[in-house]
Amino acid sequence: MADQKAIPPFEATPVAEIRLSQARLLETFRSTKTKDLEYRRVQLRRLYWGIKDNTELLLAALNKDLRKPAFESLLTEVDWCLQDCLHAIKHLSSWAKDEKYSDVPLQFSLNSARIRKDPIGTVLIIGAYNFPIMLTFGPLVGAIAAGCPAIIKPSEVSPATAMVMEKIARESLDPDAYVVVNGAVPETTELLDLKWDKIFYTGGGTVGTIIATKAAKTLTPVTLELGGKNPAFVTRNANLRLAARRLLWGKVMNAGQVCISHNYVICDRSVLSSFIQELENTHKDFFPEGAKNSPDFARIVNKRHFQRIKQMIDHSTGKIVLGGDTDEDDLYIEPTAVQVDNVTDSVLVEESFGPLFGIIPYTSLKEGIDIMNEVDRTPLALFVFGSKKEETQVLNSCLSGGASMNDSFFHGSVFTLPFGGVGTSGTGSYRGKASYDTFTHRRSLTNTPSWMDKLLAVRYMPYNMKQLRQ
Ligand code: NAD
Repeated sequence: MADQKAIPPFEATPVAEIRLSQARLLETFRSTKTKDLEYRRVQLRRLYWGIKDNTELLLAALNKDLRKPAFESLLTEVDWCLQDCLHAIKHLSSWAKDEKYSDVPLQFSLNSARIRKDPIGTVLIIGAYNFPIMLTFGPLVGAIAAGCPAIIKPSEVSPATAMVMEKIARESLDPDAYVVVNGAVPETTELLDLKWDKIFYTGGGTVGTIIATKAAKTLTPVTLELGGKNPAFVTRNANLRLAARRLLWGKVMNAGQVCISHNYVICDRSVLSSFIQELENTHKDFFPEGAKNSPDFARIVNKRHFQRIKQMIDHSTGKIVLGGDTDEDDLYIEPTAVQVDNVTDSVLVEESFGPLFGIIPYTSLKEGIDIMNEVDRTPLALFVFGSKKEETQVLNSCLSGGASMNDSFFHGSVFTLPFGGVGTSGTGSYRGKASYDTFTHRRSLTNTPSWMDKLLAVRYMPYNMKQLRQ
């Protein structure tokens, strides 16, 4: 890992520069330069090498911001984006090809109906702090592949990574088409005051509402990747050891600062104590010296988020059944589970976005499903550990952005599978081809040969009703 001293101190982009950058992007888009497929491939290759060559610096930055273990940084950030670049380079030609449209009635069959893929225009990508690289460079791969110039605004809450990303973009990409703007509310507000052809936002629903409201004023389309309160069902037919291992892993990776980790477990009352016992066993397996002493456990990003999670624990009327230790100076929160008996408990009313989750027991699966629909009708993710029949029953009775059966957020680990929320957890999706589609306008097109005019004569005035009926 590189020396953290090599990371430049955080510096917000001067607000006056933002408007100029966007104007430059617009000019580039109008020049049609970004429409050339080879240009796009070159930019994707450059992004690939920019990330690859700066891997050590990125690992150091992620460690500085979140004490992210190098293993997790490689798996979920650096290698993730590298794979994304390679996948887009490999498939770009086929994604960008016109699609011949076959669902056409006979009388229109000679008009070569097809779908043309056009870049949607200049785009703004705003990211969250927890996976600062994946959540901004990930969509950027889609924007480049689709031929859209983009401004990327990483989260200022992970400032070291934001600065390294700015360096990578500046040194690797076409400065007339791809720019990183760093900053917080003033800089983002300035960005949102400009006219974009699409805004791609990842973060909480509160800011999501600000983004959507601003975008609505200029009828700008948005993709919103938001949060939610994700439930995990553990039924009487679950393999409890497996469920405990998979769920606890999902809650301790990146110290639970994962939008698709579970916020609470809805557990069959008859297996509750055995499940809690398995959680304890797993905790000991994962962290024999305790999570605090483990190099494999990240920290909460800052004091504000630490206090937010701590208050959720402190205000709960439930019983701590796992962990509970906290240390503000170290921004450490032990993996913690709180058993609660009502949906208004503080650990259930908010998204924890940390290594904290609630456990609420049920007597019948129907009651468990009702609990879920009361806590959050449209969470980002859903997990079920149980029989096939129970999986189907749960899936049929509720909605979520995505779902993993018999696992914690595996659907979110498949980097080519469309990823997105539904309802309050988001709108739109990306990753793999879906990232390309997100920034692409599918333009319907026909071409009418001149010789067809005789056949089309029926449409011209003076109208002849008889011919129409023939
Ligand atoms: P956040 O909403 O606080 O910040 C996200 C971005 O919005 C940042 O770049 C920030 O600078 C910007 N921002 C903050 N205040 C703003 C304002 N007033 N006006 C304009 N822009 C503003 O989110 P966060 O704390 O970084 O991330 C946590 C949330 O994001 C959680 O709810 C989590 O579930 C969600 N999330 C969702 C996904 C997903 O893919 N669906 C991924 C990661 C995080």
